[in-house]
Amino acid sequence: MTVRVRMAPSPTGEMHIGNVRTAVFNWLFARKMGGQFILRIEDTDRTRYRPETIRVIMDGLRWLGLDWDEGPGAEELERVGMANAAEYAVGGPYGPYIQSGRLEMYRQVAEELIERGWAYRCNCSPERLAAVRARQRANKEMIMYDRHCRNLPPDAISPDEPHVIRLKVPLSGRTVVHDVIKGDVVFDNSGLDDQVLLKSDGFPTYHLAVVVDDHFMKITHVIRGDDWIPSTPKRIMIYQAMGWEVPVYCHVPLVNGPDGRKLSKRHGATSITEFREQGYLPEALFNFLALLGWAPGGGEQEIFDREELIEEFDLFRVNKASASFSYKKLDWMNGVYIRRLSTDDLFEQLLPFWQRAGLVADPCPPEERERLLAVVPLIRERLRKLSEVVQWTEFLFREVSPPPAEKLVGKKMTPEASLAALRRAREVLAEVTPFTAEAIEPPLRALVEELGLKPGQLFGIIRWATTGQKVAPPLFGTLAIIGREKTLARLAAAERVLEEESDGE
Ligand code: GLU
Repeated sequence: MTVRVRMAPSPTGEMHIGNVRTAVFNWLFARKMGGQFILRIEDTDRTRYRPETIRVIMDGLRWLGLDWDEGPGAEELERVGMANAAEYAVGGPYGPYIQSGRLEMYRQVAEELIERGWAYRCNCSPERLAAVRARQRANKEMIMYDRHCRNLPPDAISPDEPHVIRLKVPLSGRTVVHDVIKGDVVFDNSGLDDQVLLKSDGFPTYHLAVVVDDHFMKITHVIRGDDWIPSTPKRIMIYQAMGWEVPVYCHVPLVNGPDGRKLSKRHGATSITEFREQGYLPEALFNFLALLGWAPGGGEQEIFDREELIEEFDLFRVNKASASFSYKKLDWMNGVYIRRLSTDDLFEQLLPFWQRAGLVADPCPPEERERLLAVVPLIRERLRKLSEVVQWTEFLFREVSPPPAEKLVGKKMTPEASLAALRRAREVLAEVTPFTAEAIEPPLRALVEELGLKPGQLFGIIRWATTGQKVAPPLFGTLAIIGREKTLARLAAAERVLEEESDGE
């Protein structure tokens, strides 16, 4: 048997990162088993449909490296109005892969379900349904369709008049969902609603479409969030009614925020676009998501490349409990991946962040490129997200005005001693040639000794004076990049601040 799994996002918005994690599981499982990973677009919810999100979803999956073996082809994408459709077209033998292109198939199955005695037409008006619900609410009964049309004579509702088609759920008995992760989950049929399968606009509901598509697309394993479990028995009934084989179900626990509540905007980024814009590397996010809810056997290792994850992935080891999304851990992991990049590669990754902040021109002039390539090694160790480069390096791009006097006074030092230290530092640095990190370090360390200070005291003052900020990349390299002339000028300006301060007293 060839494993065939699918990711079936609804284009009502961006995919929630929890669903992206589930896509990663599907993808890993397909790659591990030498199977196929299919992308299907579930656009049957016409009220919340936002066609432009199809591209956003596809861009996000691609950026993360989740390539699909089958998915919407060019014609389908053009039909839904996507520009540059060819760029995103994959196609495959079981299309169409966008549900709105499959309406005829759903209608046929719905009609067949009627013939097989598993479905019926219903023309109850919205007003009647609302009244039923209101009555049920008042009587504290379960809210469900009261099956008014279920026992009408077969021809009572003509196929030509507006109506919906509902599933005829057996009134007794039980339906069991066999689930790889949850085990057997048993449902009493009496608690299940006569679900609408086909709406009056001819569109199927999710419940019918997903079964028809999974069947005809020969999906072997349905790996999805466990919020879909309660409605799964209704879908199993459709499989049974049609005499189709039920796929293997793997309902994975949802992803919670660090506080144990459902992961949402409150906690931080929740879409691929947001993570991308904040400067997470796709390899890091992929590694992180892949380990959200299971762990490879043995060892404490957490950094795995794509091939290792494919090798290690085991659907049967997915935890029964919800996974918790730790932004802190993701930041750490991203830092690890950032440090692995070569200087050139990291520069290329950082450049758009500098450009978006308006610090570097687009295209980047060659001299600026040279200068910034020297900056990269200085900040590599400190970055957790690419976007942080802006705060770490801003002082390199703008004029630094001297900080207020209190910032220039070293820890446990007097203003006079701090001023003296700055003056000596300027004298010492004026002599350093070439003005490189290696050449700057020894005389500044000697100055620490000479002045009887701690390194942190002297370097802290110099850092404030030359960068205008408390934290900056390592000092010696930073000074080298600022250059002798500017370094000396900034030190002199800082001295004046302290001089004025003491004059004023
Ligand atoms: N369209 C559904 C969603 O966006 C797919 C659920 C499933 O995988 O069956 O969540």
